[in-house]
Amino acid sequence: MKTLAILGATGSIGTSTLEIVDAYPGKFRVASLTGGQNLTRLAAQVQKYQPQRVAVMNDHDAVQLRRLIGSIPVEIVSGPAGLVACATLESVDVVVSAIVGAAGLVPTMAAIGAGKDIALANKETLVAGGSLVMQEAARHQVNIYPVDSEHSAIYQSLLGHRKQDVRRLILTASGGPFREYPRTALESVTPEQALAHPNWEMGPKITIDSATMMNKGLEVIEARWLFALPADQIAVHIHPQSIVHSMVEYEDGSVIAQMGVPDMKAPIAYALSYPERLSLPMPPLDLCQIGQLSFYQPDLNRFECLGLAYDVLKTGGTAPAVLNAANETAVQAFLDGRISFLAIAEVIRRTVARHSPRPLDRIETVVNADRWGRIEAASEVAQLLEETA
Ligand code: NAD
Ligand code: MG
Repeated sequence: MKTLAILGATGSIGTSTLEIVDAYPGKFRVASLTGGQNLTRLAAQVQKYQPQRVAVMNDHDAVQLRRLIGSIPVEIVSGPAGLVACATLESVDVVVSAIVGAAGLVPTMAAIGAGKDIALANKETLVAGGSLVMQEAARHQVNIYPVDSEHSAIYQSLLGHRKQDVRRLILTASGGPFREYPRTALESVTPEQALAHPNWEMGPKITIDSATMMNKGLEVIEARWLFALPADQIAVHIHPQSIVHSMVEYEDGSVIAQMGVPDMKAPIAYALSYPERLSLPMPPLDLCQIGQLSFYQPDLNRFECLGLAYDVLKTGGTAPAVLNAANETAVQAFLDGRISFLAIAEVIRRTVARHSPRPLDRIETVVNADRWGRIEAASEVAQLLEETA
């Protein structure tokens, strides 16, 4: 029996994780849950899983949640300290890190510091805190199991092989809903169009990231830290069918790939049960029915965000944290209807250009760079609005 803390339990990854818990009642137990905006869903989860501790965003939400759940004996905590309290709970073996954005960094670091294994969905943690997170994990002998489907695929494709024989990692990308759009058409796409992803059902922020291909850029950075390989050994192929989840190319030219139907329950379950493979209630992959798998190079002129991510990875230090913060700010501004789709990359490019990167010496440096990036990106959004007024 593994005891879980689920950070971001009410989100897309959080609810898929709980579906796996439901399918294997004897294998997993939920000790703590955290939620953000959706208190009704969180209340239902508390009623169902009866965790020891639950975290909400603030004291007001804590009162609301208590009202919704009545006298259920659960400790309600709140704010950033509440997330840490859930992530470090004594009885927890594995922390599912599934908050969206850089808000996941501090609780994930706290979990590592407390010696918990991590099932990592929150890629922004590694984008912003890369070297620090990996050093902390090594120091506490903590395993980080990737939940991101590409990284799970690479993790699986590396098993049984020698690290020094790896030539490169090939991350696959669906290309998102606009992969065939010319640049001129991208100028006028709406949040509703961008939120309609062809292959995956995900939270709004990562869905927009998929449409801009920043998601793949963040994943390149995530791969750099998870697998300790430089940017020039990490390639991206567009693969519209999302069947090959990613690949590893070896020195002898062999390419090992991992395939499956596009359903996040598979990589989540693998992260929770490694090395065991659970028999999941999912349709099998029917390659004969799919018939064809295609691959091609991404177009960095139309999907600038991917190039920006490679750039900050080469710059290093606090640059990726600033890129991530600027992206979160710009994506929100796009979702709020304040800036255009193509302006997302523009805001990020301008923000990163104004940043003087510093070495990643401690977590406070990352938190400060993240804060700076948000403030700077917000003023770039305002500047763009003035320019286009
Ligand atoms: P989501 O928006 O569906 O859920 C996010 C969760 O985090 C919710 O529980 C929300 O309430 C909570 N949350 C949001 N802001 C918070 C804050 N400031 N403080 C505390 N809690 C907060 O997102 P998702 O799609 O489940 O993605 C979660 C993470 O997993 C992201 O980092 C994403 O990149 C990654 N990921 C998601 C998928 C997917 O298929 N959804 C795939 C790979 C990786
Ligand atoms: Mg992914």
